[in-house]
Amino acid sequence: MLVLVLNAGSSSLKYSVRRFDPDQSLNGGVKIAKGIVEQIGAGDVADHLQAFDIVRGELAEALGGCTVDAVGHRVVHGGERFTSPALIDNEIIRAIEQLNELAPLHNPPGVQCLRAATRAWPNVPQVAVFDTTFHRTLPEAAWRYALPDELYRRYGIRRYGFHGTSVEYVGQRAAALLGVPWEKFNGVIAHLGNGASVTAVNQGRSVDTSMGFTPLEGLVMGTRSGDVDPGVLVFLLRKGYDAEKLDNLLNRNSGFKALAGHNDMRTITEAAANGNEEAELALETAAHRLARYIGGYHVACAGAQAVVLTGGIGENSAPFRARLLAKLGPLGISLDAAANEDATGVEEGLCISAPESTIPVLVIPTDEERAIAEATLALVGAP
Ligand code: ADP
Repeated sequence: MLVLVLNAGSSSLKYSVRRFDPDQSLNGGVKIAKGIVEQIGAGDVADHLQAFDIVRGELAEALGGCTVDAVGHRVVHGGERFTSPALIDNEIIRAIEQLNELAPLHNPPGVQCLRAATRAWPNVPQVAVFDTTFHRTLPEAAWRYALPDELYRRYGIRRYGFHGTSVEYVGQRAAALLGVPWEKFNGVIAHLGNGASVTAVNQGRSVDTSMGFTPLEGLVMGTRSGDVDPGVLVFLLRKGYDAEKLDNLLNRNSGFKALAGHNDMRTITEAAANGNEEAELALETAAHRLARYIGGYHVACAGAQAVVLTGGIGENSAPFRARLLAKLGPLGISLDAAANEDATGVEEGLCISAPESTIPVLVIPTDEERAIAEATLALVGAP
């Protein structure tokens, strides 16, 4: 059985195909094709529909005469309606489309690909897997903003949380590494990529998370600001900023890009090592805020059994991990410097904290596409 996963980002479309054999348990299957179309909207590829056609062409070549048996789609925002992966039909696509307003940067590409793929393969079952789903268990005290209830009832303004597919996947692997059943696992899980968020997990359930109504709240990210005093936005509106300008500022021109002039962790780390003060300050700001969240979430999850790092930065940047762990001393955490250097690119997951640490810090590579493929199969029926 062949499962295609489509992961539509704001300017990219990633895909992968996995083969699941009937005699195996799910276990990730075997990846037989993958690819990415980048710079959508900026280069030769005008939009996600065109990107989809490219992917379709590449797939035809990669799979020879074979066709896929199911398609799993990553959808960023599932709102309050989607509390589990959904089998796609027209009504479901319309319902997802209605959520575009909540995530204007992130949802429309996913919806475009849903439509294109159901048109291309009308008889193949397709499943939407949402970044928000894992956070359906947030207690109301964590998802409420201290705003009038009318804003929630009228516009759905509340905290939703994102990166859920990744967080659940690495969380389960962390629990397995520690020999703790997932339903008994408490931990703090930081997904640090271009977008970044941290989640408190209590007994295998999300109980707090740093991204909120949109994937903008929380940590310092590649080009996103994370937390700012909302008063700043009011101030800027009064100075003549409009919605478009604020959106551009907060989503595309803030974060590492604003602080260090660049959004790539490798470039920033190198610059800081060469004495660039802006780069050094950017790293300190990001590590300070993350450490503060981890301390808070240690409380929110009722005592973490592990801190887990994942995503491009969490998995690969030993210098950033060292900088972070240097701030976690008050939690009883200290770094194993040699293990931290070793952990670069690890496949299985590795402990980078010293043996005497009260809480282990684990680096665990995420694999959202594998998780989406497994969720898709679970819904359409395993081979
Ligand atoms: P996305 O959220 O787009 O999926 P990723 O999870 O790929 O992003 O993470 C991108 C971030 O990871 C970038 O800041 C990039 O610089 C960083 N990164 C990737 N590889 C390395 C590496 N070898 N060393 C340090 N940072 C890395």
